[in-house]
Amino acid sequence: MNDSTISDTPHCPHDHEQCVSDALAAAEQVCERSGARLTPLRKRVLELVWQSHRPMGAYDLLDTLAREDDRRPAPPTVYRALDFLQEHGLVHRIASLNAFIGCPSPEHNHQGHFLICRHCRVAFELDQSLIQPAISKVARQRGFSVEAETVEITGICAHCREAA
Ligand SMILES: [Zn+2]
Ligand SMILES: [Zn+2]
Ligand SMILES: [Zn+2]
Repeated sequence: MNDSTISDTPHCPHDHEQCVSDALAAAEQVCERSGARLTPLRKRVLELVWQSHRPMGAYDLLDTLAREDDRRPAPPTVYRALDFLQEHGLVHRIASLNAFIGCPSPEHNHQGHFLICRHCRVAFELDQSLIQPAISKVARQRGFSVEAETVEITGICAHCREAA
């Protein structure tokens, strides 16, 4: 059977509606706790990011929002919504793709570490306890103050390897 950290992918049959509703419920909680407001646009952007387990770029978000509504939201509004979601740990930015992915556990503040399939573009968020302690340890040894931990490992996922 699959490891629990990798079972939640579009390839393994799973109830993605559940992923989305869990993510929205977690977002409501995080915002309530920090006194932040999950406005309808912020919520919609979060839903769109959660459309799949593939990181989504800001332009794709803008396009989708424009298709849904004749009043195309101004790009700065959408960028601000993304900033908000990022600040509250609801989405992670994938630097190498300049795209965003929903975080399944926003209640704990953390930086995301990812395996990214370059074939199907699915990004798997790694369990924090895997890499974070190693980073902290070497940083401590060198008296280094860590500001960002960009860990984006690219390759081919199991599903795509099987299909090849
Ligand atoms: Zn899902
Ligand atoms: Zn995360
Ligand atoms: Zn793949």
